[in-house]
Amino acid sequence: MKPREACGIFGVYAPGSAVSQLAYLGLYALQHRGQESAGIAVSDGTRMQVIKDMGLVTQVFDQPRLAGLEGHIAIGHVRYSTAGSSTWENAQPIYRDVGDTGIALGHNGNLTNTSALLEELGTIDSPIESDSELIAACIEKAYPDQERSDGRSFETALLRVLPKLEGAFSLVAMDEAHLVGIRDPLGFRPLVLGRLGQGWVIASETCALDIVGAHFVREIEPGEMVVVDASGLRSHIFAADRRAALCLFEFVYFARPDSVLFGKNVHAVRQRMGELLAKQAPAHADLVMPVPESGIPAAQGFSRASGIPYGDGLVKNRYVGRTFIQPNQIMRDLGVRIKLNPLTENISGKRLVVCDDSIVRGSTTRQIVSLLRQAGAVEIHLRISSPPYRWPCYFGMDTYNRSELIAASLSKLDIAEYLGADSLEYLELDNLIAATGVPPDSFCMACFTGNYPIPVDPELKKQTLREASVNRVADAAKAGVGHATGQRTGITE
Ligand code: 5GP
Ligand code: MG
Repeated sequence: MKPREACGIFGVYAPGSAVSQLAYLGLYALQHRGQESAGIAVSDGTRMQVIKDMGLVTQVFDQPRLAGLEGHIAIGHVRYSTAGSSTWENAQPIYRDVGDTGIALGHNGNLTNTSALLEELGTIDSPIESDSELIAACIEKAYPDQERSDGRSFETALLRVLPKLEGAFSLVAMDEAHLVGIRDPLGFRPLVLGRLGQGWVIASETCALDIVGAHFVREIEPGEMVVVDASGLRSHIFAADRRAALCLFEFVYFARPDSVLFGKNVHAVRQRMGELLAKQAPAHADLVMPVPESGIPAAQGFSRASGIPYGDGLVKNRYVGRTFIQPNQIMRDLGVRIKLNPLTENISGKRLVVCDDSIVRGSTTRQIVSLLRQAGAVEIHLRISSPPYRWPCYFGMDTYNRSELIAASLSKLDIAEYLGADSLEYLELDNLIAATGVPPDSFCMACFTGNYPIPVDPELKKQTLREASVNRVADAAKAGVGHATGQRTGITE
């Protein structure tokens, strides 16, 4: 199984525009951040509708479905891919009836203090499946007893809850009249703000602003909440202690190459990684080739800096997503061949530099090396544009289990031998940071260093949340709880 990826989130407030279409396009541009499920919530000011389902954005939505989602506020979410535990219940946006309104939210990241939050929540109506659902439950509990005369009850509840959350949370949220964008105090996951005519857009990455024709305004700051409603946009800082600790792996792998993080174009940064890698770890070879697609910019940079010609050695099936689930033995045996096929003519008899962005478990890379050998490569020098991935991530990339990370237990030489490569070199952390052009204290790089920017409980596991919450469900069914002004449609059980 591959590591699960970060999620993608999108929000738009644009009276007079077809916001569900914009949300669809935004999610389409963010599809690389998650392929398991997709969903959109829309409000016309009085009524909220949510459609979400398993699958890609284009599988969940079609024109009739989108046309039925009318309003001027929308949020959307694409969820990461996993083998096995993917369920409809975990699809987002999460919807919740609160008093006589409805709220919806989409979350990218992982909370690290779910046990404490659950404790504080006390008795609950039904088991809580995810940290994202836990946020929604906390918001409901924090709602003012009486609807505020200025209509800002949602905002008030959020400002009560957000300081209690720990870990990674980039959020888009809405009630019937407000669009909200939130970034945790360390800004683990990206979140940007854009302008669309008189309207506003919030998205995980700038590529989603581009696709809807919005222009980039700024990043949402760590520890900031922005609220958009009929009176415009306002910003609240909800955390006293805040500083940037953006996931460095966003630059390495997650983010789309055409996106901009910290003012730096991701593609250009990745090319620089390849250039620095060529200087740090040169190789005698006839051809520099990428593992498509994640290795392409680094291979371009490596070629440019080394003078070794760049060429293609593997063709990727364009219609295979980043991850695909391997449902049966035939597909498992074929493995990476379904996705990548060698170009024998280009490879045979050659000494290759093979560039990729990262090695996590080593299983894919091992298959790739074997494919290239079968196609006649005489030498294979693997060059990886990030340091050894040694420590589990608790902030949105679910590599909880250290034993699955090949570099956690094996030396570089042992890894090279396991992969079947003639040599293996990783880009040093200093060089990776230099390639970004961003000060080193702006990043979380715990997966490379083991230095987590906030304390984490190594026992933290998602599954325990449901189990822990089951014990807190009230025995007596709470009849009458939940007022149904928020209308859910298209929900398939
Ligand atoms: P491995 O050899 O560790 O099995 O796989 C390495 C490949 O996985 C690299 O090509 C890298 O681009 C890709 N990769 C790194 N992180 C992720 C992730 O979070 N999800 C998926 N699907 N692939 C990843
Ligand atoms: Mg890859």
